[in-house]
Order: sequence, then structure tokens, then C-alpha cells
Amino acid sequence: MKTNPSYPESMTLFNRAERVIPGGIYGHMSPAAALPLELPYFAQRAKGCRYWDVDGNEFIDYMCAYGPIVLGYNHPEVEEAAQRQAKDGNCFNHPAPVMVELAEKLVSLVDFADWTVFGKNGSDMTTWATLVAREYTQRKKILRIQGSYHGAHAWCTPGHGGLIEEDRMNVHTFEWNDLEDFQWVMKKFRNQVACVIVTPFHHPAFGDSELPGVDFLQEIEKSCRKEGIVLILDDIRAGFRLHLGGSHRFFNFEPDIICFSKAMGNGYPISAALGRKELNVAASNVFLTGSFWNSAVPMAASLACIKILERENLIDHMRDMGDMLTQELHRLAEKHGLLISVSGPSTVPFMSFANEKNFFRSQCFSAECARRGVFFHPHHNWFICAAHEEKDIRQTLGIADQAFSVVKEKFGS
Ligand code: PMP
Repeated sequence: MKTNPSYPESMTLFNRAERVIPGGIYGHMSPAAALPLELPYFAQRAKGCRYWDVDGNEFIDYMCAYGPIVLGYNHPEVEEAAQRQAKDGNCFNHPAPVMVELAEKLVSLVDFADWTVFGKNGSDMTTWATLVAREYTQRKKILRIQGSYHGAHAWCTPGHGGLIEEDRMNVHTFEWNDLEDFQWVMKKFRNQVACVIVTPFHHPAFGDSELPGVDFLQEIEKSCRKEGIVLILDDIRAGFRLHLGGSHRFFNFEPDIICFSKAMGNGYPISAALGRKELNVAASNVFLTGSFWNSAVPMAASLACIKILERENLIDHMRDMGDMLTQELHRLAEKHGLLISVSGPSTVPFMSFANEKNFFRSQCFSAECARRGVFFHPHHNWFICAAHEEKDIRQTLGIADQAFSVVKEKFGS
């Protein structure tokens, strides 16, 4: 059995897990999806922008649990709100009053929205939103961007197992930032399209992020309006890191439904879809439920989280920290004679080595950083949280400097 002396307990746990859990750890947290042997497999505890693995190694974290941690781990005010609700109870025969309070808060923040519903995961909401669009338009087709991620359900999963041809029969793709391709697919399926679902910027797996080109999202919006098609914004990854009122505000367009999850509860399981008044009846016609979807504790945590983000203007702080990190990474790489590309907004940046498609340099960089106490994913966008402070970024940059030096030594350029 291969092992890494820095992570003995992680490896032991993984071996035990493999015996009782298919794949040991599955999905996006599977070691195979990141850097087997070079990054820890199990976490023990976390605080602020740092976490400790089961072997006691400390990391400054730039994944934030793959997005949900937006204020920092274990935020005292969020935890207090959650515990206060937990004292009264979490799972009842009915929703708790906090559901209405959270709904009112969200509807007040999102300019075009008149209603909201809640779920647990991003996939719950993106899938449900497509059904609302079908109900509203009485049409079948879903248009989405090639290579985008909207969750793990049959119509959109990037996996292959268990699918049948019919799952995707009414799902069609077009290329990001290619309006010609969009118009072509729109024409091909004229009067059949229920919805177009987009992310606010393109963040494909294993690829640089791409911002929307001039008018790309605005032209899609215009066509959707003209043809009576529902425009869905999947803001699950970027939500609450670009604009508190939804990432459409950051990119200046207007969808009909917006889906949030990840950051809205600072780690508590909750998701939401918000929509226009015209879609209210269709929304109430599409069955929506789950045993735990009305749980009060995540709603209390989410309400606290959103109020703190708003009160302290924390998206601006995250942007400052993201700018500092990404600008300095560029400078350091250059100092070592390396060329990197950092794409996407700086609160959700994606770093790659320019002209490299196999990510070997990224893997080396990420492994060298982990060895020294910084957790950077080698080929997924990173996440900045409000607990990152200048001193953390400075410490990170000192470590990145050493990691770049190893990359340079190993790869030459
Ligand atoms: N949409 C986007 C853009 C996402 O990033 C994700 C999660 N990575 C999802 C949908 C699905 O969310 P979940 O994993 O919570 O189902």
C-alpha cells in the first residue's frame, strides 16, 4: 500500500473507508479528483480560514469546503444563531418561523425576485428550476453551456454510470461566449425551449475560467424574453462572493430564476431558488420537498450568515484579499521565470500554468504548498472567504514562493 508519512491517519481511515464505502470517499472530495497521496483525505477541525487534518497538519485553506465557507469556519455569530435555533429544535412537523424570515430577507436582496423556495443542495434547485420552466412554458428542451456544471442529477451529471439515452434527449448545449452557436441551437429548437441555464461566468472543470464576453449574457436574456423562455442563473458556486443581490448584478443582466446554495449558510446544508412573480403559479405546481428541507437550524445559520455579509460589506473584503493573492502570485511566478494564468473573479480564482494542459506543474505546486501548510486545489477554482486576512495571504505567498521555486527546478519553465 502506498502511503505518505505526513498523512498516516488519513491513509488508515481511507483504507477502512474503502472496505465499507464504494470508492472510500466519492464525488468531488475523492482523492482521485484532486491529488492522491499528496493532500490529506480527512479533516478534524477548522477555524477561520484554517483547518487541521486528522494527522494534526494545519492548512491555510483556499477551498473553503469547496465554497460553502464564506465567513470562515466556525463563525461565532453563525454558530450562536444555529445553536439558539437548535435549542428549540431543528426538524419538526412544520417549518419554523425562521423560514419566513429568511425568505423575506432573500427576496428583499434579489431585485427581480418575488418568491423563494428552499432545498438542501445545489442540484435540488437547478433541477427543480428546470421543471418550473417546463411547467411555465409547457415546452421540453433545456439549453445549457457545454462543459458547465449544474449538479449530479441525470439531466446534467458529468458522470456516466447509470444514465440512459433518454435522460439527455431534451438537453442541448452551446458554447460559452459563442452567440452564433447559441442562436443556431435556438433556431434548431424554436418553440421547444423551456429554459436556458447559465452560470454567471464559465468555470469548467480542468480549465481556465472565462468571464462573459460583452453582451453575451445580455443577448441570451434578450432572446429568452423574445421567445418566452425562462432564463435560469445557476449562482451556486459564485453566489455571495460577487454581489450580495446575485451575480447577475455583477455582470449586469437579469435572469428569471436564480439558484443559490454553497455560501448561503456558511457550511450548513441549505439551498434556495428565487424567481419572478410570473413564475409563482408554475413554481407552486411543481412538487418540491425533502425530509430535511424545512430544517430550521440551517435556515437560522443562513439568515445570520447573510446578515453578517451585508452588515460588514464582506464581499469587498474578499475581493481585496483575492486581488492581493492573485496579483502577488503573478509577480512571484514571474520572479521565478514561470508564467501563470489566473482566471475568473478574484474571490473564486482559478490558477494554471500557462501553456500547460496536463496540470503537472499545478499538481507539483499544490503538493509543495500542502507540504508547507497551504491548501490549494491543483485543478479546481479556489475560494476566498471573509476570514482571510492580509497576514494569511502574506504567509501563503511566502509558501507559494518556495513552491514556485520547486516547480521551476523540476520543470525548467
Ligand atoms: N451548480 C454549480 C455551478 C456548482 O458549482 C454546484 C456544486 N459544485 C452545483 C450546481 C451542485 O451543487 P450541489 O453539489 O450542492 O448539488
